[in-house]
Amino acid sequence: MINKTHQQKAVFLDRDGVINYDLGYVSQAQDFQFIPGVFEACKQFIQLGYQIIIITNQSGIARGYYSETDFAQLNQWMLNQFEKHDVSIKDVYYCPHHPIHGQGKYKLDCDCRKPQPGMIKQAQQEHNIDLQQSVLAGDKLSDIQAGKCAGIATNFLVKTGKVVTDECADQADGSFADLLSLSTALSNSPVIYNV
Ligand SMILES: [Mg+2]
Repeated sequence: MINKTHQQKAVFLDRDGVINYDLGYVSQAQDFQFIPGVFEACKQFIQLGYQIIIITNQSGIARGYYSETDFAQLNQWMLNQFEKHDVSIKDVYYCPHHPIHGQGKYKLDCDCRKPQPGMIKQAQQEHNIDLQQSVLAGDKLSDIQAGKCAGIATNFLVKTGKVVTDECADQADGSFADLLSLSTALSNSPVIYNV
């Protein structure tokens, strides 16, 4: 049962290519390079009343490139960096599966790997999120599709990650150079973006 009265709005952020440069299967702090402006962008989102939730496909776990423990360690390091910059991240969800390339228990046609909406739906339930008031920022078509499938009202593309395809740009509700450009647009034009 969803309690409408205490619903929160959230910004759902993909990780690789949105928060940090996507160098491919990033699993160590030394390879985790924050994209400039990310901390400032998150502060703007919080200022606008959003909670910040990270949703990330981590098929590197399924493929055996790194373990869930490795992911957890890097995740804690990342959260510490956010904290040092006075940014509170509400939660992080990750999908460790892959339907084809997964090994052992990780070979799974799950409902959490984007473009499936599982991680967003789980966050919605655990944190009582109003998806109609929420926003997603991703760098790939699968991010945008996951957001739309889950029922997130506005799904934006940022161009700091994967090469942007026409299909991806068409499906997104807007494209921005980076996360800071997005948060600045929302801050400057809350009516246009309905925030
Ligand atoms: Mg990405």
